[in-house]
Amino acid sequence: MSGYSHDRIPGERFLHSPGPTHIPTEVLNAMHRQPMDHGDPRLEQLIATCETGLRRVLQTDRADVFMYVSNGHGAWEATIENLLAPGQAVLIPGSGHFSEQWALQAEATGRRVISTPYREGYPIDPGDVEQALRADKKREIAAVFAVHTDTASSATCDLKAIRAALDAAGHPALFAADVVASLAAAPFAMDALGVNVAVGASQKGLMCPPGLSLVAIDARAGELAARNSTPRYYWDWGRRKADYSYRKFCGTAPQNLLFGLEAALALLEREGMAAVHARHALLARAVQAAVECWSQAGAVSLHCRVPEARSVSVTTIDVRAGIDVEALRSVARERFHVAFAGGLGPQTGRAFRIGHLGDVNSAMILGCLAGVEAAMLVQGIPFGRDGVQKAVDCLAAG
Ligand SMILES: *Cc1c(COP(=O)(O)O)cnc(C)c1O
Repeated sequence: MSGYSHDRIPGERFLHSPGPTHIPTEVLNAMHRQPMDHGDPRLEQLIATCETGLRRVLQTDRADVFMYVSNGHGAWEATIENLLAPGQAVLIPGSGHFSEQWALQAEATGRRVISTPYREGYPIDPGDVEQALRADKKREIAAVFAVHTDTASSATCDLKAIRAALDAAGHPALFAADVVASLAAAPFAMDALGVNVAVGASQKGLMCPPGLSLVAIDARAGELAARNSTPRYYWDWGRRKADYSYRKFCGTAPQNLLFGLEAALALLEREGMAAVHARHALLARAVQAAVECWSQAGAVSLHCRVPEARSVSVTTIDVRAGIDVEALRSVARERFHVAFAGGLGPQTGRAFRIGHLGDVNSAMILGCLAGVEAAMLVQGIPFGRDGVQKAVDCLAAG
C-alpha cells in the first residue's frame, strides 16, 4: 500500500470514475504549450475550431455555443439565470441525484421548481412530464430541464419521448437537456431532438481535464434569454455572443484547456461519432454482462432496472447492506490501482459506480473489471466468478 501520496506507481492507475475520466496522451500533450496574447488571431482560430467541433458533436447546425471557465454546475447556473426570472417555474423531471441537485440550485437562486417523481433505478417517465405540463393550465412553466444520463442512477432517458411529451401537451416551455454525462458517448442530436439548450462539461465523454463547461442554445433560447431581465453578468448569453475572445469568455480565455479540447475533438472526429457511440455501447454491454454474472451470488446487482435505459457511460452497482463500499474502493484503488466511484445521494454507501466513458478501450475495461473482482475477493464479497469471462465473451462477439 502506498498510502495516499502521489508517488509514481508502476504502470498506470486505471481511472474509471464517470468523470473526471482518463485523458488521452494527445490531449495532455496539446495543453503543454505557452499561452498567447489577447488578440493573437491564432487564439480566435482555436476558439472557432472548438466551437465548430462541439457543434458537430452536439449535431447542431444552428446553435450558438458558449464555453465557461467552470464545471458543469456553472453551466447549470447559466441555464437557470438566462432562461428563468426569479419566481418563475421550471419543470425538472426526477431522474435521481442530478435532477435533484439542479433543482436545488434553481431553488437556491429563487426559481420555483416543479418535479415529477423519481423511481429508483428507472429513467424519467415521459408520461409524467406530459401530465405535469398538461396540469400547468396557466402556462407558468418556462422550461423543462431534463438530465439525459443521470450519473448517479446510470439510467439514460429517452429525450425524443420527452420532446414528444412537450409537443403532445402543446406546452410552449423550452427544452433544456443536461448531456454532461452522455455527450460523445451516447447518440445525441440537438437539432433533430428539438432541444433548445444543451449543457455539457469537459471532463467526461469529452476526455478533457475538469474546468470547462459549455452550453449550446438555439434561437428560441436566445430570444427568451434576451427578454429575461434577471440581473446577471458572467453567465449572460447576450454578453458572450461576441467575436472577441475576451468578451466571449467574459475575461481571459482558458487557452490551455482549449488546446486540450481542440485535440480531443480531433480525436472524436478521426474515430467518427458513429464509431465512438458503438464503442461505448459495446464496452457498456461488457461491464453489464460482468455485473450480471457477479450478481448471481446475491451481494451486488445492477441498479438500473430497465435494460434498454442502462447508460453507455456509467454503471451503478447496488451492494447488499453491510458491505463497506468505501473500503472496497480503497482496496481497489490502492492495491489494484483501479479507481471507481461511490454511490451518490440516497445511494451513498449503498452502491458503487464504474465509469466506462471517454478515452477507454476493451483492455482498460477488462483490467478495471478484474481489479474490481480482486478487490471484492479481498473484501470477502461473494460474486459470480465468471464476470470477467462474460465481458471477454461480449467483447469477442463485438
Ligand atoms: C458530472 C455531472 C454534472 C455536474 O458536473 P460538475 O462538473 O461536477 O459540476 C451535471 N450533470 C451530470 C449528468 C453529470 O454527470
